[in-house]
Amino acid sequence: MGYADRFRRQRSATVGEVVYSLTHSPYTALGDLYLEDRLGRRRRHPGWVPVVYCALARHLGSYNRLDAELADGLWAQLLAAADDAGLEPAPRSEPFRYYHHAYWRDLIMSDDTARHHLLTRLTEIALEQARRQGLLLPHGPGSITHPHRRRLIYGDGTILRPRFRYRPDNTGARNDPSAATHTRHDGHIWGNNYVLISARGEHPYSRVVLAIGRVPEPGGEAATAIELIQHVHQLAGPGIVGVAYDGAFQGAHHDKIMRTTGLVVINKPHVAVRGDEVVVKRHTLGTYTHTVGRHNQTCSHQLAAVNGRIADIEITEDGTPAVVAWANRHQVKRARRADGTYRFNMVIRLTCRHHNCDWDTWLSPHDDPEHIRLLPPDDIDFDRLYAVRPDAESLNASFKASLVADRAPSIGWQRQLYDVAGFTILHNATNLHRQASIR
Ligand SMILES: [Zn+2]
Repeated sequence: MGYADRFRRQRSATVGEVVYSLTHSPYTALGDLYLEDRLGRRRRHPGWVPVVYCALARHLGSYNRLDAELADGLWAQLLAAADDAGLEPAPRSEPFRYYHHAYWRDLIMSDDTARHHLLTRLTEIALEQARRQGLLLPHGPGSITHPHRRRLIYGDGTILRPRFRYRPDNTGARNDPSAATHTRHDGHIWGNNYVLISARGEHPYSRVVLAIGRVPEPGGEAATAIELIQHVHQLAGPGIVGVAYDGAFQGAHHDKIMRTTGLVVINKPHVAVRGDEVVVKRHTLGTYTHTVGRHNQTCSHQLAAVNGRIADIEITEDGTPAVVAWANRHQVKRARRADGTYRFNMVIRLTCRHHNCDWDTWLSPHDDPEHIRLLPPDDIDFDRLYAVRPDAESLNASFKASLVADRAPSIGWQRQLYDVAGFTILHNATNLHRQASIR
């Protein structure tokens, strides 16, 4: 089934299906965080109610619409589903409303510790869902040399435009001071940039959003993505082998992820464009030798990284370098150091045209992370793994579809992050239910 079909079916979920999915999902446990909060006023509603409310708002697109639906029968429907799920009863005559939501949201999201706690619990529950679906399992399929998609996480950023159009004379409530001009591959957009990290299997509805975060300032997306990747990896452990990211990672970012998490990074190298011409990134690595024959003769080759892939280079008669052989990644090795960091090495195999034999040599991507890739774009595994990229785009599209007029439902990044959390809960709970029902 293609993305378009999946997306259409995703949107066609009825309110009844969403209410059932949410009340029967493990995400209702997030409500415990509301109970733990001793600063808050005496609560009238059980903890699961604000969780389900903020997810339902994303299904219906706006809080106004949700409040109207709750007043018109949805509250009774929600209580019946909660009763079926064995959740704590809520007052029948007192529907949860936007001002309740706003109170809890601001209490949690304006406090750095409470916000971090909520987002961490969200990730823990999402990881549990992923593992139940056979994703990110420590003894799952694949290896470091040939990562399997089920042990891959992937991420992308998405820019949420503010509720009101920017005008210099916009002040007070109509202004969103947290917005800025962010630049992504889709252009310059005024808003807030959020990064989502996900995993998915081969089947429809198998995607699970694992972590969400906000980019604090323009140009900071890679740093935010790395923090989220590290966070997810720390909670998920050895079940993850690789990470695909659709965005501007540079050599230093690759190196940091490899060193701190031991994950294989799958990311397209920057393409340099000069005028109308795409410039192939070529970087000389130096002379590498192997021995041949009974007398251990030494044979030398000049190696270079071309678009992340290793090539044997010879200088032609007119003085220009030419690729005479491409290397194949033979094996990737990963070592853990005493300080907890990781170091990758790989064996690459080349064919020697002087002696008509294969020879192997060791390279480390840490020596030149900008040019030496564990999984370059021309590798046989690359396309299969990087194929998650359009999936990240479809996730962004379904997030945008949960908004009215493609604009943020709230003002201020902390509140918007709560909206993104609501979307994550809605998305994961619905997928979990649909996975179970098609099995
Ligand atoms: Zn040779």
